[in-house]
Amino acid sequence: MIDFSQALQDQIDIITENWIEAVRGDDKIDTAKQLTYDSVRDSLPIVLHAIVTMLSQSEDSDLRTVIQESLDHGNVRAQQGYDAQEIAREYRLLRRVIFDALEPELLKGSAAEVNRAYRLIDTALDEAIADCFQTYTQARFQELQELQNQLQLTNQELTRLLRTSQENISHLAHELKTPLTSIIGYSELLLRQRDNPRVKDSAPNLAHIDKVLNNGRLLLRLINDTLEISRYDAGRIELQLTATNVRSAIGTVVEIIEPLAQAKNLEIAVDCDPVLDQVMTDYLRLQQIISNLVSNAIRYTQAGTITIKTELLPDQHWSICITDTGIGIASEDCDRIFQPFFRSNNSLGSLMPDSTGLGLAIVARLVNLLQGKIELVSEVGVGSSFTVIFPLELDGV
Ligand code: ADP
Repeated sequence: MIDFSQALQDQIDIITENWIEAVRGDDKIDTAKQLTYDSVRDSLPIVLHAIVTMLSQSEDSDLRTVIQESLDHGNVRAQQGYDAQEIAREYRLLRRVIFDALEPELLKGSAAEVNRAYRLIDTALDEAIADCFQTYTQARFQELQELQNQLQLTNQELTRLLRTSQENISHLAHELKTPLTSIIGYSELLLRQRDNPRVKDSAPNLAHIDKVLNNGRLLLRLINDTLEISRYDAGRIELQLTATNVRSAIGTVVEIIEPLAQAKNLEIAVDCDPVLDQVMTDYLRLQQIISNLVSNAIRYTQAGTITIKTELLPDQHWSICITDTGIGIASEDCDRIFQPFFRSNNSLGSLMPDSTGLGLAIVARLVNLLQGKIELVSEVGVGSSFTVIFPLELDGV
């Protein structure tokens, strides 16, 4: 009788390599593209070893290891930001990679032997998927709960602010309506399915949780950005000026944002004037300005390079310039993009899924608060260049 466990044991490294390559190359598993090799692999070799034990005829089944590792794996994937479809796809790829690797051995076996191997491997993988989804769902529900708490808090603050300021209310209400309708609709659907064991842990159900979470996050960002603008308009933002090393402020922002650029194969080039190591500014607000401009540059660029350049100017000023090789902005839109909720009808056809139209409105206000000015040069199809010019010394602060 052929012992397929030995064949599987011999192929564990190859299966792991092939699977990671297949997962990273799959255009429907975007999350994996931002992860390291080890993070994608997670506990796969341990699960494969457990399947080896299950296949061997001399030892007891090792389904318990599969269960434990898969439960942990579900939590890991939730933390890594996977959605349910991506996880389901990964398991489908794993099944294919395992059987591809075992094919030469399976062809030598009798029908009964092959049948047994298929049955055992399928049992292990089915168990792994079920357990992984179980903890994944729990983690998502917990995140949903935390998001709901956060939304409640920011909502209270928003209500307080709206009582005192009527500006932009109808626009905000309109913007909040779409994600909110989606959250309510999907939440109701989820709640109706909560006690139905047949659909409880199914993949479509998990996809609904993902939609609720994504819409919730967008809603939270909309509310927080609106609050930021209201705070500014109410004169409630206080500057915390410190002697700042501009290069290190840029470095921190780039470190956080770089994965987004890498995911699109964009290069970020930084060219900092070393003289700017003691500039009086508000460190966090400066980072917020840079972060909004660089994330826009990444978002609206399909290929090429994002350049961040700082310069000491002759008349006691300094500048930071963020240039991209992206879609560009039509000249008639160049002034309007700094208004809250304005989004230009660009060549990408539709609006970006996480677009709020508030990022540049916040940037413009923060630049003003830091006594600077912002200049935009852009050409459709060529790219955009946002230059912010600040004084070295701020008046009256
Ligand atoms: P959001 O990006 O969330 O829509 P912003 O206020 O940051 O909001 O930007 C407003 C609009 O300006 C965007 O919707 C986009 O049309 C345009 N825009 C901003 N930055 C760029 C850029 N670097 N390249 C092309 N278009 C841009």
